[in-house]
Amino acid sequence: MRDQLFIAGQWTPAARGGRLPVIDPATEEVIHHVAAATAEDVHAAVSAAHTAFEHGPWRRMSGAERAGYLRRIAAAIRDRQDELARLEVLDNGKPLPEAAWDIADAAGCFDFYADLAEELDGAVETIALSDARFTSKAVREPIGVAGAIIPWNYPLLMAAWKVAPALAAGCTVVLKPSELTPLTALELGDIAQSIELPPGVLNIVTGTGPDAGQPLCDHPGVDKLAFTGSVPTGSKVMAAAARDIKRISLELGGKSPFIVFDDSDVEKAVEWILFGIFWNQGQVCSATSRLLVQDGIHDRLVDRLVLETGRIRIGNGLEDGTLLGPLVSKGQFDKVLAMIDRARQQGATVAAGGGRAEGFEAGYFIQPTVLLDTPLDSEAWREEFFGPVLSVRRFSDEAEAVRLANDSRFGLAAAVMSADDARAERVAAALRAGIVWINCSQPTFTEAPWGGYKQSGIGRELGRWGLANYLETKQITRFVSDNPWGWYIK
Ligand code: NAD
Repeated sequence: MRDQLFIAGQWTPAARGGRLPVIDPATEEVIHHVAAATAEDVHAAVSAAHTAFEHGPWRRMSGAERAGYLRRIAAAIRDRQDELARLEVLDNGKPLPEAAWDIADAAGCFDFYADLAEELDGAVETIALSDARFTSKAVREPIGVAGAIIPWNYPLLMAAWKVAPALAAGCTVVLKPSELTPLTALELGDIAQSIELPPGVLNIVTGTGPDAGQPLCDHPGVDKLAFTGSVPTGSKVMAAAARDIKRISLELGGKSPFIVFDDSDVEKAVEWILFGIFWNQGQVCSATSRLLVQDGIHDRLVDRLVLETGRIRIGNGLEDGTLLGPLVSKGQFDKVLAMIDRARQQGATVAAGGGRAEGFEAGYFIQPTVLLDTPLDSEAWREEFFGPVLSVRRFSDEAEAVRLANDSRFGLAAAVMSADDARAERVAAALRAGIVWINCSQPTFTEAPWGGYKQSGIGRELGRWGLANYLETKQITRFVSDNPWGWYIK
């Protein structure tokens, strides 16, 4: 396990010598320490990225050459798949099969953007002008130095979602992982070194939000900020970016609705509802954490949901058969338990779970929880738990379902289930969210756009949209007429 900062292709201690503990959330043991970067380290990392961008080979080489590096990163991740998945479990707590899925997805993300890097070669768009004396074309160029700040729920995958398209575009990167889960991001530095990525193209600084994240946002040498995290932090990132008009993309929180109509199959509905809220302990930005069930199916569905929720196997993510691990940290554990208590006080009925999981001497384990009749104005209906807590309400008709679903300051994702395809499409069109799932919840594909409406963010990651986040568009226009311009000189 690496414990230093990765700057200009070298492992470097933090300038002030600070260190941060890494805690296994299943045991509460300190398993490692990493360097705690401060503004001086961030400055060194941005300078390295700037030098690599301005003077290094990265942005000058062809997209096909950059694709070669990206594919080597993907292959190196796959070579270390099992080890990286285990590190992710130790750091984040998630069940091993989920971590294995994340690592495979991270490798796939580098391969996907390798293909797009190749397509950038010769991607010149000729523009038809209304004036035949000129010809014009549009070309795409990398923005420059990208600062990437990521959360703790999918540590390596969130790094891949930003680093892969940024590198494909020809940008250089300073990556700041969450202080809660720095381990696999640091291994990405190891991989960069092993495949001989040119120095300074990828720099990794571990540290807290205020000490390392904020200086990265404030640094004038950063041209683009790509942030995933909470709304309050996203707002700070945006304010910092505004000072010198940095480009930004923000992937923020959500309180996503799942609408189930009464023509749905109860078994299928319950399976997707469980997946939509308990996958990754509910620490998923797109978790469908508000369930809207039509009257005609409500009682049957809720009975089955409560039964299956009680059967979910809680345990250390490294144990076979675990479906729900611990939350990531003491802070997150305390926050979610306090929110469940307030939900009770504000009138919700706890139908399943509702507290600390029994039988664990240590670890941040919380029971998967179902809250019924959650009041519309309560915190439990309106705010993100970012934990394994589902808030349920009933509805009577389609118009009410859409109205309740859209009544949120967030707009990241939504799901709708119905046997009536026309109705599902109609509701999908009416939902104010960046991602809508029909008859499922959560499957995520590297090829498809990801991001939110309203306070859930700005811009889209993944797919071609993800690459566009790191590109500027340049117009090159040529005067081709043999005649003089004839404005000042007749
Ligand atoms: P957070 O906002 O607390 O932290 C995110 C990152 O920002 C961390 O690396 C943190 O160190 C850094 N940070 C904190 N303060 C900063 C500052 N002042 N300046 C710059 N950086 C700073 O969020 P979190 O608790 O790590 O993650 C949970 C949140 O992330 C949830 O709200 C969740 O919905 C959201 N999320 C969104 C997506 C998405 O794709 N939309 C994906 C995952 C998580």
